[in-house]
Amino acid sequence: MNSVSDRVAALSPSLTLAIDAQAKRMKAEGQDVVGFGAGEPDFDTPQHIKDAAAAALAAGFTKYTPSSGLPELRQAVADKFKRENGLEYKPSQIIVSCGGKHSCFNTIMATCQRGDEVLIPAPYWLSYPEMAKLAEATPVILETTDETEFKVTPDQLRAAITPRTKLFILNSPSNPTGSVYTPDEVKALGAVCVEHNLWIMSDDIYERLLYDGAEHRNMATFGPEYQARTIIVHGLAKAWSMTGWRLGFCAAPEPVAKAMDAMQSHSTSNPTSFAQKGGIAALTGPMDHLPLWLAEFDKRRLFAWEKLNAIPGLACCKAQGAFYLFPNISATGLKSTDFCARLLEKEKVAAVPGIAFGADDYIRLSYATGMATIEKGLERLERFVRSL
Ligand SMILES: *Cc1c(COP(=O)(O)O)cnc(C)c1O
Repeated sequence: MNSVSDRVAALSPSLTLAIDAQAKRMKAEGQDVVGFGAGEPDFDTPQHIKDAAAAALAAGFTKYTPSSGLPELRQAVADKFKRENGLEYKPSQIIVSCGGKHSCFNTIMATCQRGDEVLIPAPYWLSYPEMAKLAEATPVILETTDETEFKVTPDQLRAAITPRTKLFILNSPSNPTGSVYTPDEVKALGAVCVEHNLWIMSDDIYERLLYDGAEHRNMATFGPEYQARTIIVHGLAKAWSMTGWRLGFCAAPEPVAKAMDAMQSHSTSNPTSFAQKGGIAALTGPMDHLPLWLAEFDKRRLFAWEKLNAIPGLACCKAQGAFYLFPNISATGLKSTDFCARLLEKEKVAAVPGIAFGADDYIRLSYATGMATIEKGLERLERFVRSL
């Protein structure tokens, strides 16, 4: 009688958040922990965004807004897609949610149900399969390795499609691998989805975090038949460093947007009113912080990538996006959970085991942390690997 539902019983809590919490706890105890676990930029939210939210709060902008967001914010999101992606959306197709994660959840709940299969390339963002399960759908994992820069091919996608397949999830630039699909690769995967009439969830949260001249191109930009089956998930967490604000958004075909609006109106209602005012400032204001952040991220990325590949036993792809590196640890003979537990215990370095992302031969290192921390952490990592 008083047991939890089958729907949640099988759910595993987020391992990335757990590792982060453990590292923070050790730090609070006075231990000299180096954290590579962070899934958020180490920069502060730009001042003009904070000012806009503070002014809204001071002016008493503290009441309910429409559940899918302020009309002005939905318009600002639609303008962003027009300006940066050349995509036309009506504000009614834009749903503002409590974080990009919430937008992903809404998308999966609005498109999938019991018996449906959801195609998820691995390494994947750890919440996707759990969300599919919450929708009582079946996650179907498409395995990739560093040999193909963690990219699925159209043939691999096609081979996994069954009459039950409902949704394909693409996250480029990727968390956890940092890998970026080229425009041609995106289009080729999209063509398979068009051919088989699948929904596509395009998680574009790292859209602006690109290096080495890599280009991001969203699936929906390849034509109306692509846009008609694509739901774009995006948000302010990463490129504006607003993780704690809980603001994300979706651009979706009208029926899906309507369903998400209804769901939201019965669950969370609107994202925080004054945070939305900050969101408007973020989307309509200057972006001069971003080149500075990107230059800093890039410096760290190149430094860490070279260092990692100089450690005998580790091998790391040159990720072109986000702020993660995903080295292969298989030559050490350890699996990822064991590797990370021992690394934290022996050297007080926090990294996330790849198994959390469906890839047990890898670990995830975030370089969204200061250069001095990265240097110290990699020295310790090297000592650890050499001691094995
Ligand atoms: C960070 C992240 C999101 C969104 O995070 P929120 O904090 O909920 O906005 C979505 N997808 C991926 C892959 C992410 O890494």
